[in-house]
Amino acid sequence: MGPRVPEPISYSEWRPSGASISKRKNAILENTETPTKRQKLNASEQVPSTIGTVGQPFVNPRIVPVGFVWDSVDYSCGYDATFTILANLWLENRARWSANFTFLGTNLGSLGVNLQRVIDRSFSLEQARDIIRRKMHSTHPALFPYGPNGTSIDRIADNLLPSHHYGNGRQHCPLCGFSDGKTYSILESAMSVTLDPSIEYPQGVTIQEWLNSVVSRGRGWCQRCRLRGVRSKLVMRTKFDSVSPLMIFSIDHARLKFNEYIIFDCNNLPVRLRLRGIIYGGQAHFTSRFVDKEGVMWFHDGITTASRCLEEVGYRSILDLLSLQRCGDKHAVAVVYAKEY
Ligand SMILES: [Zn+2]
Repeated sequence: MGPRVPEPISYSEWRPSGASISKRKNAILENTETPTKRQKLNASEQVPSTIGTVGQPFVNPRIVPVGFVWDSVDYSCGYDATFTILANLWLENRARWSANFTFLGTNLGSLGVNLQRVIDRSFSLEQARDIIRRKMHSTHPALFPYGPNGTSIDRIADNLLPSHHYGNGRQHCPLCGFSDGKTYSILESAMSVTLDPSIEYPQGVTIQEWLNSVVSRGRGWCQRCRLRGVRSKLVMRTKFDSVSPLMIFSIDHARLKFNEYIIFDCNNLPVRLRLRGIIYGGQAHFTSRFVDKEGVMWFHDGITTASRCLEEVGYRSILDLLSLQRCGDKHAVAVVYAKEY
């Protein structure tokens, strides 16, 4: 069974306010010829991409985000959803993001190199995707299969963003001051947001609140207090010298609310990462939303919108960021934050 093709209108479950509604409707009407076929479009049928196809001149009068066309033979929706966000981020500042990608991981670095070849018209966007995919498959064939088999976004994120640790934690007892003298690595670029059952989170807990709990959470109980029959939970004090320019959080909690910005204290200076993408999953298919630097949200589905992204609204006009948890019949499975430049 292939992924179910959603109705073109189905991703409009949430509603922006005021005038933006008509703008958004127009965006959909403008794209009525958007292909809805399951099979991959052949070259002559392809909707012209703003990034250009091989041999075609590169014309991009307005920054319109690009999208990856779904591969109906070797299902690619997980890569399409993730790479659409990353490629559009890269397009906004190629030099900066090429350097960041190379710093963050080998395969992510290759994605930057191959995106440059798309700009140079040596590759199509999908060829750039497939090269990275082949590398991922060759090292972990079971995790990144070919054929009508999917992968998961957290696997893709872990592969693209292998361990770099940000933040050193030292834990102490708030009652007696005991410290185990160890240094703990706290933060990585790819993280799974799992809620600690021992903590009472507020309704609509935010990514920032979850992060705050992670960086301050001690590992277990105080040994010294235990000797005198007192239970005291250790507390982590974390120091950040730097923060990853790109973070992907995979999520499994439907009530999680996305902050517009997440903020880290780096040597007493606030470092901000901004919400730049959300990946949605359901019915054996992934789609995504990219937030451009102006704050406009774009919807992409490798099947229905193919090489295009459909303009939605600025997410600041959405009254309740909790509503970003859903997109049509799918729910958020990962969220992408990036440092601003
Ligand atoms: Zn103690």
